[in-house]
Amino acid sequence: MPAPCKPTVAVFKFSSCDGCQLQLLNMEDELLALAGAVEIANFLEARRRVLPGPYDIALVEGSVSTPHEAETIKKIRGEAKLLIAIGACATAGGIQALRNRADADEYARHVYPHPEYLHYLPKATPISAHVKVDLELYGCPVNKEEVLEAVTALLQDRKPNLPQHSVCLECKRNGTVCVMVAKGMLCLGPVTRSGCGAICPANGRGCYGCFGPQPGVDLKTLVPTLRAMEKDPREAARLLSHVSGFAPAFANAAEEILAEEKKQ
Ligand code: SF4
Ligand code: SF4
Ligand code: SF4
Repeated sequence: MPAPCKPTVAVFKFSSCDGCQLQLLNMEDELLALAGAVEIANFLEARRRVLPGPYDIALVEGSVSTPHEAETIKKIRGEAKLLIAIGACATAGGIQALRNRADADEYARHVYPHPEYLHYLPKATPISAHVKVDLELYGCPVNKEEVLEAVTALLQDRKPNLPQHSVCLECKRNGTVCVMVAKGMLCLGPVTRSGCGAICPANGRGCYGCFGPQPGVDLKTLVPTLRAMEKDPREAARLLSHVSGFAPAFANAAEEILAEEKKQ
């Protein structure tokens, strides 16, 4: 009797640093168990063999930054029953989206001797700006336990159990002294989704929001506090414009701060 077919999982990379894929490889023991339970149909960072779609689950790293990527993500969506965007690049544009508020052509002229060979979109955008995404996992890099929980839950046809609270709660759990209160450092922890274990405050620096805005968060209280803490209020806008800076809650708050500054 032929062995029952295993569910297929495929991993794809768009504009990114590969760090989220490395997190998958960092799962080590768990990855072996996962590889026993599923067919890894496409994961170029881990193996050469590529199986054609359709796939049960597609894990997508990176933002859409080129016309080619904009076409490819549609093809992947067509081949995937469930599509999970992993990491800050895939969920909020990531580092690539820093150019969304700048003149990308000017950047290209400075960096490349032949910018005419480049093909890039005017903006780098998250996967959800192009296709329907079934689940987003945040962070730079993504939390490997969250990836494992999400894939396992989806294969078991249940809702993944993912953290919804802010980084501040992780500080409290760890017994970390608040760097904002004790040292006067800017910190986005109160409005940032947890998942990292509050690693930055534990190492004496403020959170810059790489896990993106906490669900349903309101920045109306935090933003005036951040502005009051710095001589140059644009520092608060800069803090909000890091790797998750294109996530709407952070992007809108940063734009409001800059608009107010212009009025003064
Ligand atoms: S989210 Fe961070 S770690 Fe993941 S691919 Fe993007 S830059 Fe790399
Ligand atoms: S250091 Fe930041 S994340 Fe930690 S408790 Fe203070 S404000 Fe919250
Ligand atoms: S503390 Fe903030 S910036 Fe640091 S890893 Fe966690 S979410 Fe990212």
